[in-house]
Amino acid sequence: MVEDDMTGEEIFRRYSSGCIPWMIFCGHITEDRLRRLNASKGKISHHLLKSCFPGAYDDSRKFARARGLSQWHPATQRNFWRNEHRRNNDKCRVHRGRVVAVIKINGTDLSLVTVMPDGPGEPDANPYRAVNVHHLPLEEGDIVYVHKYVVAETDQVAHQCATSFLRDGALSLFQ
Ligand SMILES: [Zn+2]
Repeated sequence: MVEDDMTGEEIFRRYSSGCIPWMIFCGHITEDRLRRLNASKGKISHHLLKSCFPGAYDDSRKFARARGLSQWHPATQRNFWRNEHRRNNDKCRVHRGRVVAVIKINGTDLSLVTVMPDGPGEPDANPYRAVNVHHLPLEEGDIVYVHKYVVAETDQVAHQCATSFLRDGALSLFQ
């Protein structure tokens, strides 16, 4: 999936996916809701997202309202998760980092990545491992956004878009 094609609801699901085990433990995510959550595409039911992740749902709604933004615009969701989500709580906030190694897990289609904290507000810290459950095509050097040790997004696709613009778009300006 091209990252820029994601709806706000899909971005919300990406970032909140690290909370799924805890939300199952808390009783918010039932087997039926998990099945629907995994099967949904595009404009995922807001009622379903609210039922599964009530805290993040309310926080993102308040974030949007306070700024006069549409809650489900992709830019609102990215801004909320990357910059605002529990920013005073290191355990639950989204961390930005740079991939320094990709480790394939034999016998599965999953990979782990080793991430070095990289970005404003990131603590000086040691590298850590995160799991690439969303099967993003990650390589060393990519910037990633990690929530609860799950890689939610990468800026790599934005970089690819810029590269293809240079190759396909900008070059045509000179022809
Ligand atoms: Zn969190």
